[in-house]
Amino acid sequence: MATPPLGIEIGEVIDNARLREVFKCSTQGGMRRSNKTNTLVLVSNHVKSVYGDRWIENTLHYTGMGLVGDQELNGVQNKTLNESNTNGVGVHLFEVFVNKEYTYQGQVRLTGSPYQERQPDSEGDIRDVWVFPLKLIDGMPLVQNNDDFRATQGAKAKRAKRLSESELEDKASNAPKTPGSRTTKSTQYERDPHVAEFSRRRANGICDLCDCPAPFQKKNGDPYLESHHIVWLSRGGEDTPSNTVALCPNCHRRMHIVKSATDIKKLAGKVSH
Ligand SMILES: [Zn+2]
Ligand SMILES: [Zn+2]
Repeated sequence: MATPPLGIEIGEVIDNARLREVFKCSTQGGMRRSNKTNTLVLVSNHVKSVYGDRWIENTLHYTGMGLVGDQELNGVQNKTLNESNTNGVGVHLFEVFVNKEYTYQGQVRLTGSPYQERQPDSEGDIRDVWVFPLKLIDGMPLVQNNDDFRATQGAKAKRAKRLSESELEDKASNAPKTPGSRTTKSTQYERDPHVAEFSRRRANGICDLCDCPAPFQKKNGDPYLESHHIVWLSRGGEDTPSNTVALCPNCHRRMHIVKSATDIKKLAGKVSH
């Protein structure tokens, strides 16, 4: 069993000031050593960091310290982490999914030898970094909320958009070949099958938004349309015929991506009589 520091529980989300208070460490950096509590706090920031930290199964592949140029395994905190199975320093992990919110994952330990990888530094130049395989001592990584997961993926996509042609090529060709994976949770709403079937029959094979025939037939010959709620169930919309339309896959994506008021108005018109 790990010994959690006083006053913090796994899963707790705290701010930077509280993190410093609990661990008596700096408020900056991804690796924060505290002599007072004899700990090393690791922050895996999925919103802002240039590092490619990622979970594979239940192992966090954590990128060491050093923003620019090749990282040294004997560099200050990399050395502390590398020796953490024997030096008595407690290593604690926080993840940031939302800016300035630190989720405490618990105490971790090094489960394999650190290895080198090519990653871009904070100036966009490709360099060697050290990656440390870490596992939580007590249990599994916390399941992440699906919306938060998508938000961090979205933030990364935005940063990629801002890169120059050559930076992008560098990063794309040095991307880790094994994709990260983590368990996320999402709420699935039960949909009444009668409402869905009703809206499909009402549409009669024609998409309620573009008024074109379904793009293909299912194996059983039925036109393929998807049922969609004008006001999303996740936003409190009702699972009723007057809130449900049948859309072709293109228009369905469009409703979730573009969210145009004109489109919503048109769909509302289709169900109002
Ligand atoms: Zn359509
Ligand atoms: Zn939908």
